[in-house]
Amino acid sequence: MTDQILPVCYLIASVTFIIGLKMLSNPASARKGNLVAAGGMFLAIFATIFLYRNEGEHLGNYPWIFAGLTVGTIIGVIMAKKVKMTAMPQMVSFFNGMGGACAAVISLVEFGHYEEAGSAPMSAQMLTIYLGLIIGSVSFSGSIIAFGKLEEKIKDRMLPAQQVINVGLLLAIFGLAGYSMSLGDISANLFYLVFGLSLLYGILFVLPIGGADMPVVISLLNSFTGVAAACGGFLYDNKVMLVGGILVGSAGTLLTIVMCKAMNRSLTNVLLGNFGKSGSGGPGKEMVGSIKEISPSDAAMLMKYAKKVIIVPGYGLAVAQAQHTCHELEEILEKCDVEVKYAIHPVAGRMPGHMNVLLAESNVDYDKLVEMEHINPEFTTTDVVLVVGANDVVNPAAYNDPSSPIFGMPILDVEKAQQIIVMKRSMKAGYAGIENELFYNSKTSMLFGDAKNTLTKLVTELKGLN
Ligand code: NDP
Repeated sequence: MTDQILPVCYLIASVTFIIGLKMLSNPASARKGNLVAAGGMFLAIFATIFLYRNEGEHLGNYPWIFAGLTVGTIIGVIMAKKVKMTAMPQMVSFFNGMGGACAAVISLVEFGHYEEAGSAPMSAQMLTIYLGLIIGSVSFSGSIIAFGKLEEKIKDRMLPAQQVINVGLLLAIFGLAGYSMSLGDISANLFYLVFGLSLLYGILFVLPIGGADMPVVISLLNSFTGVAAACGGFLYDNKVMLVGGILVGSAGTLLTIVMCKAMNRSLTNVLLGNFGKSGSGGPGKEMVGSIKEISPSDAAMLMKYAKKVIIVPGYGLAVAQAQHTCHELEEILEKCDVEVKYAIHPVAGRMPGHMNVLLAESNVDYDKLVEMEHINPEFTTTDVVLVVGANDVVNPAAYNDPSSPIFGMPILDVEKAQQIIVMKRSMKAGYAGIENELFYNSKTSMLFGDAKNTLTKLVTELKGLN
C-alpha cells in the first residue's frame, strides 16, 4: 500500500511546484505561491524519508537526516530573517551555490559506490553522473564567486585570452568525460580531474563578469543548478526531483532570456563566459550643460498641480528603505486628484522583481505597478516623473551612446514627460558606473538628499499645501 502512496505524494508535490511557480508570476499571489510550493517540497521530503523503500528496506540513517534538516533549517531561517533586502542577490547566489554543491555531491557519492563495488555503471548512468558533477560543480563555484563579488569581497578579473581559456576548459571537461565513459571501466583519476576542472571553470566563468551583467549570471547559474538536480532525479529514478529540477532549470533559463533582453546581452556571450567588460568600465560620453536643483517645496507644488505623476523607483529607494514614505506620498497625491503610477524596470534595484517586492511590502496597489513596455507609451502624457534613487534604468546613453556599456539596454522613457524630478544624494553614478545625461536635460531638476528624508519633506510640504 505504501508503495502506491509515495508516487501519489510525488504527483501532488509536482503539481504544487507548477501551481506555485504560476502564482509567483503575479505580485498579488507570489507570497501564497511560495507557500504552496514549499508545502509541496515538505510533502516530497517527508514522504521520501518515511515511505521510500529500497528492496523492502526503509531509508534509515534517521539521526543523520534529521540532524542535517535541523542544521539546514536553522541556518536558512536565520539568514532569511537577517538578510537586508539590498543583499538578497547575494543570498540567492549563496543558496544556489549550495544547490549546485548538493548535485555535485550526489554524483561524487554515486561514483564512489560504483568505485567500491569495482563495477562500471551503465553508460546512461555514467553520463548522468558526469552531467550532475560538471553542471553542479560549475554552479557551485560560479555562485560562490558571484556571492563574493556582490559582497564586494572579490574584484572583477579578466585573464589574458580569457575567452580562449574558457572555451578550452569546457572542451577539456567534456572531452575527458567522454573519453572516460568510452573506456567502459571506472577511471577515478579522470573523474576527479573533471570535477576539479569544472570547479575551476565555474570560477573563471564568473570572475571577469561584473557591473550590469551580474543578474544574468545569477539567473543562469540558477538554471544550471536546476538541470544538475534533474540529473540527480534521473539517477535515482525520483520523479519529483526530476520535475523540480526541470522546473528550476527552465524557469531559470526563461528568466535568463528575459534578463538578457532587458539588459541587451546575447545568450551566446553569457554561455562563453565573456560578457565583455564590466559595466563599471568606461565613464561614457562627456556631459555638457549644467544641472538645476529644485527645493522640496517647489517639487511638492509641481506634483500637487499635476494631472499625472509617474514614480520611477530604483536601487536608492531600497537603500533608503523609503518604500513606505513613497506610498504615503502616492496616497496624498491621489487625495489631490493626481493620477499616480509606478514605472517598473525589469532590472531596477539589485535583483529581479526587487521593486515589486519592496512596494508590495508597503501595500502599494499591484495595479499601480506598471511594467516598462506598458508604461513607456504613457510618459508623453505625464506631467511629472519622480525618479526615486534610480539611475541606469533611466539613462538615455542606452539609446544614444554606442560607446556606453549599457548601450542597447531598454530604458524607461522618462525624457518624454513634461517635467522630471530626480531624487538622489549626489551626482555619483549608479551600478554601471557611468554619467547620466538625463540629469543635464533642461526638463530635469535634481532634488538632492537621502530618498527617505526627501520623500518625508515632500509629504510634509504636500500636507501643508492641502
Ligand atoms: P542604479 O544602481 O543605477 O542607481 C541607484 C542610484 O540611487 C545611485 O545613482 C545613487 O546615487 C542613488 N542612491 C543610493 N542610495 C540612495 C539613497 N539612500 N537615497 C537616494 N538615492 C540613493 O539603480 P537602478 O535601479 O537605476 O539600476 C539598477 C542597476 O543595477 C542596473 O545597472 C542593473 O543592471 C543593475 N543590477 C540589477 C540587478 C537586478 O536583478 N535588478 C542585479 C544586479 C545589478 P547617489 O549615490 O548619488 O545617491
